[in-house]
Amino acid sequence: MSEKLTKLQEELKKIQNLNHITSLLYWDMKTIMPKEGFGRHSEVLTAFSTDCFKLETSDELYALVKELNAPCEYESLDDDWKFIVKRMLRDMEESRRIPAEFFSEMVQAQAESSVAWEEAKNASDFSIFAPHLEKMISEQRQKALYMQPDKDPYDTMIGWYEEGMDVASIDRIFEELKKELIPLVKDILSRPKTEDARFFRPTDLNAQKQLEKVLLRYIGFDFNKGCTGESEHPFTLELSANDVRVTNHFQETNPIDPMFSAIHEGGHAIFEQNIKPSLDGTAGGSCSYMGIHESQSRFYENILGRRKAFWIPIYGELQKILPTFADISIDDFVKEINHVRASMIRTESDEVTYCLHILLRYEMEKEIFRNNVPVSELPVLWNQKMEEFLGVTPANDAEGILQDMHWSDGGFGYFPSYLLGSIYDGMFLEKMEEELGSVDEILEKGEILKITAWLNEKIHQYGSTRLPKEVIEKVTGKPLSSASLIRYFKEKHGK
Ligand SMILES: [Zn+2]
Repeated sequence: MSEKLTKLQEELKKIQNLNHITSLLYWDMKTIMPKEGFGRHSEVLTAFSTDCFKLETSDELYALVKELNAPCEYESLDDDWKFIVKRMLRDMEESRRIPAEFFSEMVQAQAESSVAWEEAKNASDFSIFAPHLEKMISEQRQKALYMQPDKDPYDTMIGWYEEGMDVASIDRIFEELKKELIPLVKDILSRPKTEDARFFRPTDLNAQKQLEKVLLRYIGFDFNKGCTGESEHPFTLELSANDVRVTNHFQETNPIDPMFSAIHEGGHAIFEQNIKPSLDGTAGGSCSYMGIHESQSRFYENILGRRKAFWIPIYGELQKILPTFADISIDDFVKEINHVRASMIRTESDEVTYCLHILLRYEMEKEIFRNNVPVSELPVLWNQKMEEFLGVTPANDAEGILQDMHWSDGGFGYFPSYLLGSIYDGMFLEKMEEELGSVDEILEKGEILKITAWLNEKIHQYGSTRLPKEVIEKVTGKPLSSASLIRYFKEKHGK
């Protein structure tokens, strides 16, 4: 190994150590930190994040990475390291344009904004969050312009979460989907359906937590390399492939949502736990493409988790853990988890209307960054779009614009990833069935780990070293299109 590469690995270790600390602070802040601990906690988080940012963008590291990109050094590297040094050079050139002072102000503002959002959501009062949202919008726009001065800021933001995508490419596939989906959803919603109150009976929280562990283990989550926690909004956090953590949000009278959150976050975690160890701590060692990431969580949650065959091997155990399900047949359960409703809340919605919730957020972000719609007009615009897409209007902002945490820390451009993930899933499912045979048969036999192994081999092990477009082409052999997802929805929900 070249001397320069050894030096780079040492530098990466220092960065990895700082990242480890900031991630642990973040985990603590989101799971168990007492409210009053926030001030000091966010100070420390800002300090460590800023140190890490300085290290990541330092002149010494930049010089070293540039040397490793010179032909004589570059050619001696293996494919993974070629990817890593090339990626580092590009990332550094972009992030070195962000002034360090701006960076720490931004981290501080994000932490404050998250707290204000939570308060606003609990009080259903948009005015508490509005000034913070305004700041998040202007800071993210500024950050995008620092990093890529010649590019449209919203295109840049989309690229942060799904490299290679921009408004033009997303519009093309989303419009195709929207055209088919709005009439399909109208048709489904027009069919008579009754609510089954048995699914909303108070269910012991500890039993729900026990079931979460059973579900995670069932799909292939490795508890030697991961653990669970609780937070307002479920998320997955990876410290390394050997320490991947998931959270959940339990509610006494809604036991089904946490089951699907567990399966969803479990899908993210399985991805991270199975990235090859040689990539650990490098730019390839965690999947940074959120569309690809969401495709994995949503594959488990929807493509697998909403099939009867998924539940056949474990429904008896579920009924034992949750006695409130003892009088519910598996068929009634499967009907409920596929019940298409015009729900106000994205995270509580079914797999079909979910897509419309994302289209709405994507259109909102375009209004913000492309049409400069003022923050004060956003709640009304949100409600109008809900009426247009799903025929319902939120009664208040808590069930409208305040419901998601993403914008609270400046995560604009993330939402399209969820829908891209589902679109990829339609394509992955077709290929998987071509290679492994019927997914229903595999699941029914209790062999879900065969599916996990297929995903490990085809997708997970590579981490970030394959761009989203390459993943799609290598796995499916086809260019990106929503046709497979549309076909899947029509077959499943059309009649
Ligand atoms: Zn997710």
